[in-house]
Amino acid sequence: MPEFETVIGLEVHAQLKTESKIFCSCSTRFGEAPNTNVCPVCTGMPGSLPVLNARAVEYAVKMALAVHCQVNRRSLFARKNYFYPDLPMGYQISQYDQPLAEHGWVEIPVEEGTKRIGITRIHMENDAGKLLHSDGTWSQVDLNRAGTPLIEIVSEPDLRSAAEAVAYLKSLRAILMYLGICDGNMEEGSFRCDANVSIRPRGTTGFGTRTELKNMNSFRNVERAILAEVRRQVELVEDGEAVVQETRLFDAAKGVTRSMRGKEEAHDYRYFPDPDLVPLVLDEAQIAAWKAELPELPAQRRERFVTTLGLGAADAEVLTAEKAVADYFEAALGHGVEAKKIANWVMGDVLRELNDRGVGMEACRLSPVGLAHLVAMVEAGTINASQARAVFREVFDSGEDPRAVVERHGLAQVSDDAALEAWVREVLEANPDEVARLRAGEKKLVGFFVGQVMRRSGGKANPGKVSELVARVAGEGQP
Ligand code: ADP
Ligand code: ZN
Ligand code: MG
Repeated sequence: MPEFETVIGLEVHAQLKTESKIFCSCSTRFGEAPNTNVCPVCTGMPGSLPVLNARAVEYAVKMALAVHCQVNRRSLFARKNYFYPDLPMGYQISQYDQPLAEHGWVEIPVEEGTKRIGITRIHMENDAGKLLHSDGTWSQVDLNRAGTPLIEIVSEPDLRSAAEAVAYLKSLRAILMYLGICDGNMEEGSFRCDANVSIRPRGTTGFGTRTELKNMNSFRNVERAILAEVRRQVELVEDGEAVVQETRLFDAAKGVTRSMRGKEEAHDYRYFPDPDLVPLVLDEAQIAAWKAELPELPAQRRERFVTTLGLGAADAEVLTAEKAVADYFEAALGHGVEAKKIANWVMGDVLRELNDRGVGMEACRLSPVGLAHLVAMVEAGTINASQARAVFREVFDSGEDPRAVVERHGLAQVSDDAALEAWVREVLEANPDEVARLRAGEKKLVGFFVGQVMRRSGGKANPGKVSELVARVAGEGQP
């Protein structure tokens, strides 16, 4: 039985964070009352004329430059004709045979290091409106979203697994967010993707017939959808059947993909240049100016964390994946704690707490400086690691300075030798059998005594010191 290889190419749509829409001056704000941010242009009234938003062009070009695309000096807007109730114009204004940018790439982390994924093209287009379906008897149309600027980023079929597809999406999303041009919210649809999936016998180079998957609104669902679809295709081929080229919807509740429309029902978009819009012509000086404005991007920041902070590549990868997390980490530096110690806390407790709660960095009320204070107390032996963890969970929501919490709860660890030694002696005297066994060489009993002392001290003893003292006191009088 042949073993199969997965081949995936992604089409990503990212909403650009401009104030106004791509071809009119209506606001792009999310969550307003339905049909309030609309005008004759974005509702497709006859006789209205589109005017291209310069800021949307700037953002699209910046993304193209950030992923190493060649930016075309001249690109064209084209009408993509189809009928749908959320598209009052009867066509989407997109770019077709002369897109804004082509031939780029982005690097994704893989087990062996990094892998380069080709970007075929990036083009600009407008978003459609939204349909709100009621109980199944009627639907409503909200055109607030109609005309929101989008860029579509089309990848080469270079991805070889669901995990690589997710890594690629995360890389693109991070770049968009570092550029500050997209809010990256998958649930609200400001960052979404269609996945083209095929399989082929491992070792061959031709392409199998692909299906296109839609309706995945989280990284998790992209991964689940691709895995389900690959399984379905492998079963078909193993049963001697053929994969049919079609569009399939992912059913997140059932974890399966379902046929939406086949090739015969595929749209014939009848693309033609939009006669209402002049070609988009960009001059070298403008592109150079935008290039000079590019901020530090994830790959550069990762590199800097490795070379100037001495972090490992894997740590740098985790810390830079989200701009907000990287910003938080950097703001916690420079307060007398080693970068690696802060990094461990951010990658450990901070990210764990965010993941457990399913929230973003902005939910953490503890300031970066507060985190530095907390880690400094652990380093100085004022509190131990488990106390620090408890303090962290408390200040995560309150934002209180951890030093104040430690003070208030009287948590400061006892490191005073005399006090510790008194506790150690009490515990040793109370457990003569265990002392004998320890003296006989049963070293693991040190842990037992440390635990006893910790209990006696109400968790305040410095466990490192206690462990040294147990060994020393138990060894007294021994040859
Ligand atoms: P369409 O406009 O019909 O969606 P495109 O040529 O723009 O077609 O391709 C869309 C996506 O499909 C691209 O990301 C491309 O990499 C991917 N793709 C093309 N062929 C395959 C294949 N055999 N298997 C997986 N992905 C593919
Ligand atoms: Zn409008
Ligand atoms: Mg497609």
